[in-house]
Amino acid sequence: MSSTLFVRWTIAPAIAPRPLINCNRCGGVRPYKYSEKFRVNANGKRIDVWLIYRCTGCDNSWNRTILERCNRRDIEPALLAAFESNDPAFVRRHAFDTVALRSRIGRIEEFPDVAVRKELLDGRPECAVALSLELRLDAATSLRLDRLLAGELGISRSRLQVWEERRLLIVSPDGGRAWRKPVRDGATIRIDLAGEADRGAIVGAACD
Ligand SMILES: [Zn+2]
Repeated sequence: MSSTLFVRWTIAPAIAPRPLINCNRCGGVRPYKYSEKFRVNANGKRIDVWLIYRCTGCDNSWNRTILERCNRRDIEPALLAAFESNDPAFVRRHAFDTVALRSRIGRIEEFPDVAVRKELLDGRPECAVALSLELRLDAATSLRLDRLLAGELGISRSRLQVWEERRLLIVSPDGGRAWRKPVRDGATIRIDLAGEADRGAIVGAACD
């Protein structure tokens, strides 16, 4: 019987990044929030797609370019249909694409808030002396790995840091370099809890 508890955490960022735009109606820099809609302009063979954002102060709109003068032949029909129907999962994927947004607009506001769904994959919590956490991201987040673990496991970052230094906590890939960086999809964290008196509480927090 394995003494390791295998758990998958699926992390869903709660708030999409917001571009900071000099709003000509408000007369100052304001965060803009994504709407649930794309705007598709099909002009003959050329297709443009934008994701529409609205000023949080005055509702003024800003169109973020998603596709620019694309040849219709180069776009999968299913992709075009997803844009035209404002498919919610598809809107969300673009709205949370921080890297793409940043390439369009210099300044953005990011939010570390996430919801974490925890699934027990293998092992028995009452027998566990080690944890193996598999992290899945449904969109990019600015939340740091050490803050995620401290918050979800209910332990201090300094204690986690000590574990990391003593190799009781191992992050793969990238080891300690990933520690203060935003959480990455596919990362795994292994924690040896054999010497921890409160491991029951930690194991419990890892699963629910
Ligand atoms: Zn405004």
